Amino acid sequence: MNNTILDFEIDLESDYEKKFYRDLEAILLNLHNSIFNLYNIKDVNICFNFSWLETANASCKLSNDGVYNIQINRGIVNLGLSIIDEYYDVEHPIRVGDTVFSFETIAIIFVCFIYGHELFHALAGHLKYIKDKRSNGVEPEFEPLEYDADNLSVMAVYYFAKQRFGSVLDEYQLKELILIGLFWPIRLLTENNEYIGSLDKNTHPDLHVRLYTCIQKVCHLECSSNIDQIDKVKLKENIDKLFNPIIDLELRYLKHHEIDYSDSSLLKYFKMIALKQNGHNVLIEDEILELDARLILLRIELKPFSHLTII
Ligand SMILES: [Zn+2]
Repeated sequence: MNNTILDFEIDLESDYEKKFYRDLEAILLNLHNSIFNLYNIKDVNICFNFSWLETANASCKLSNDGVYNIQINRGIVNLGLSIIDEYYDVEHPIRVGDTVFSFETIAIIFVCFIYGHELFHALAGHLKYIKDKRSNGVEPEFEPLEYDADNLSVMAVYYFAKQRFGSVLDEYQLKELILIGLFWPIRLLTENNEYIGSLDKNTHPDLHVRLYTCIQKVCHLECSSNIDQIDKVKLKENIDKLFNPIIDLELRYLKHHEIDYSDSSLLKYFKMIALKQNGHNVLIEDEILELDARLILLRIELKPFSHLTII
């Protein structure tokens, strides 16, 4: 089997759920094919399936026969759906430009990001690197790999959304849509111990850093071919502008939980202070620079997959 997403047969509870998962599967298959086309990838074998586990998790594993097995738990799909459902106010629907997006569409963007993240663990050589390191008795570095997978995934999802919604949304609105899709689940993960237990803090960057990374990456997109000539001031302005829809979502979140604006942990973080577990305050942008530097060093070992980043 080559580059194929597996079909699935399962007793879904309702017609609504059946339709949702059928649509989701078709969209993931499209995303998968667009990523393979984008990088002209031919000889990587991927198996994908939904698992019906309720834990909010997804994984990609490299089997001994060289096949990458991606699994997305129903729990993480439900996380996206239920959180968005909880905050999606039908009287004030989420609108990008003149287009109102259903919460299912927004949840699907989140699941696309998850799928892309797991797929790039395979395509960018992360799992081979981990396997090689462990076979030499060395504990691999995980954080820069997670950072890399986030960056590559958010980029792929952006270009995918552009294919689907490019006729109704301009470049800025597309970026806004992606960030809305990522905001709710990541926001709740930052606060909710029930979910955060499913993430290994030793392998993944802080969730605030991950959300900020996605915003920064989305801002850079379609500027990267001219990376040396980017006007730094203009880029900062674009990042600030893209924070506005995030702040709007944050205000909905605070209102729902009756939290005072000044107590918002997200806004504190986004004032660029990331609280490290060891008690030191570190600028969130410095944290990202450090991850960048570690990733550049790792790229030498991730060859021949490093071409994936040149977009
Ligand atoms: Zn990961």
